[in-house]
Amino acid sequence: MAKLAPPNRIWGGAVRCGSAKSVAASLHTATRALVAALFPPRCAACGRPGAAICQPCLATATRLPHPQCRQCTRPLTYGDQCARCRLEQRRINHLYVPYAYTPPILQAVHRFKYANKRYLAADLANLAMSALPPDLQVDLVVPIPLASSRERQRGYNQGRLLAAEVARHLDCPLDCDVLIRLRDTPPQTSLPRARRLDNVRGAFRALRKLSGTRILLVDDVTTTGATIEAATRALRRRGAAWVGALALARTPEERFDVPPNPSDLLL
Ligand SMILES: [Zn+2]
Ligand SMILES: [Zn+2]
Repeated sequence: MAKLAPPNRIWGGAVRCGSAKSVAASLHTATRALVAALFPPRCAACGRPGAAICQPCLATATRLPHPQCRQCTRPLTYGDQCARCRLEQRRINHLYVPYAYTPPILQAVHRFKYANKRYLAADLANLAMSALPPDLQVDLVVPIPLASSRERQRGYNQGRLLAAEVARHLDCPLDCDVLIRLRDTPPQTSLPRARRLDNVRGAFRALRKLSGTRILLVDDVTTTGATIEAATRALRRRGAAWVGALALARTPEERFDVPPNPSDLLL
């Protein structure tokens, strides 16, 4: 299903094809094992060494209930699309989100985003991917671009790190260039849902034709899915045949995702 990648794309987050791919994959695994041995991650909730979230803490995480709207993950009593998504004529084919943005997931994401713990990307991508169907077929994995000012401020784009891990797992090209963010938008969390689609409308542009392509967008946290929807529309305008999105967690709409006080982080 995946086509040959042009030079600006990265196969499986690292290399393109054939034996070079398996060598690079082995190197990647060996490097990760070494980093993990030297700097074992600690559970963001309790501090136990071993993983971004240890198994006992992960068991307390809230999974989003099913049945749910396939476009925004809100709970439903019947069907697969909620009235609000129908009204907004959402174009996203499927939004996959396993967890609610509450502890311990919230603590792990805060460490990842605000405490510069980039190595948590592998564990968090694994957790996010628990929401994907095993037979999902995509041609490209694309991170949601951050506003450039936010990326400069943070020094990296956490969605891109997650997307690279997801691409590697799906053995699929990662494309960080096809989608650009045209303008900075006020944080979505400060707006009521009705205004969020307006806030991000036209904020993204896809830079080349994507006729017939199946694309998986990746972000860390979503609230109403309005940002993902705006990115979806940009990709669909250039001919993408199917656009899904994967995020690790969804916030309650009324809650603000503000950067935590550094003293609250388990560093
Ligand atoms: Zn723990
Ligand atoms: Zn919905």
